[in-house]
Order: sequence, then C-alpha cells, then structure tokens
Amino acid sequence: MIVGEQKPLEEIWEMIKGHKKVLVFGCNTCVAVCHQGGAKEAEIMAGLLRMKAIQESVDIEITNSGIERQCEHEFFETSEDEIQGSEAILSSACGIGVQFMAEKYAKPIYPALNTTFLGAVEELGIYTERCQACGQCVLGQTGGICPVARCAKRILNGPCGGSSNGKCEISKDVDCAWQLIVDRLSLLGNMDAYETLAPIKDWSADRAGGPRKLIREDMANE
Ligand code: SF4
Ligand code: SF4
Repeated sequence: MIVGEQKPLEEIWEMIKGHKKVLVFGCNTCVAVCHQGGAKEAEIMAGLLRMKAIQESVDIEITNSGIERQCEHEFFETSEDEIQGSEAILSSACGIGVQFMAEKYAKPIYPALNTTFLGAVEELGIYTERCQACGQCVLGQTGGICPVARCAKRILNGPCGGSSNGKCEISKDVDCAWQLIVDRLSLLGNMDAYETLAPIKDWSADRAGGPRKLIREDMANE
C-alpha cells in the first residue's frame, strides 16, 4: 500500500487560509489503512482547521467528505456536488489522488499529506517500506527481500563494508538488508543465488527513467 503522513497543521493552514470554502476530502484506501488520509482523518482535520480559523479570526467554511479511491474516475460521482460547491479542495489522498483531482477539476487542489513510501503493515501503527517500484523486480534473486528499497545504498551485490552485527551503517536501529538477504538465502539453502554476481541493473525501468505507464490492451480496448 501507499503510505503517507499528514503535513503539519500550520503548513496546511497556509495553503488554504485565503479561500472562503474548502472541502477536506479523504481517500478511503491506502492512506486510510495507515490512519492518515481516510474520511475519518479528513473529518478530524476539518475540525482542527475550523478551530484554527476561529483562533485566527478568518472567515472560511470548511466541510469534509471522502470517497473510496481518489485515483479512479468512477468513485467521484457521489461527491460531485460537494466538490463543485467548494472553492478549493484539501485532499488527504496520496500524491496520485491529489494529481488525479487536479486533472479533473479546475480549482485548487492541495495535499494534506506527504506521500512517503510503498510499504506493509508490520503491526498496528507500524508501517515499513518494502518497494520503490523499480520496474525490474529482483526479489527472485534476493530471497524475497528488496535491496532497492531496504538497502540504504541500493546495492545489488552486498553487503557493503558498513554492515555490522546485522545492522546498517546508517543506524543501529536499521537492519542491514543484505544481512537479511544472506540469512534468508541461507535458510532457503540457496546461497548459489548470493554468490551469483547480479548484473548491472537497467535503471531506465525505474522512476529515474521518466514517468511510466501500464496499458492492458485487452482491457483498454473494451
Ligand atoms: S526489486 Fe524493485 S520492484 Fe522488486 S520489490 Fe524492490 S523496488 Fe520493488
Ligand atoms: S550496511 Fe547493509 S543495508 Fe546498509 S548500506 Fe551497507 S549493505 Fe546496504
């Protein structure tokens, strides 16, 4: 899922305070799972912003709502009236939802979150990065542990000399991804994979190679 973190209230306030009618708009999928951007969080955010408006003596109407996903056209239908009736939208979706809304509506769309990573729910309240969408997955060679997202240097033939007692040189609180990979391959009896030199990665498939698109011809032509 996509993980995000709410921006500081002050930063949000600076973006919206010049408008007269703002809709705080939640997205009930990924960012709701990490309790940052769903309709419930949008409601809480709207309440905080209303209090801020009173404190600052600013005349601004703040409403709140949400839909299942802000990255798909079909979900917007039920909220069209609220969106059209607002002067600006504070979207608590990830950056994808914010951009999708900005393409759909000729009005200011502001981000309530900082989109941070693609991650997993490790346990309630703890979300950890797992993938950087590199476009050329190497998990088959690394025992299912991603060296792109989880190694600080993104090295493909590790570990580096900074690995110590299973921890990464950047922090004693961060596991060395390559130690995890070695342990995992050892457990699987597949140290051959570790000893096989990984080829130079084609980073053109990564985000650094420019924006990407997936077209399913079978579905797109329906
Ligand atoms: S190798 Fe690439 S696609 Fe696979 S998990 Fe890592 S970042 Fe994601
Ligand atoms: S210590 Fe391990 S995780 Fe950290 S940069 Fe080196 S190989 Fe990567």
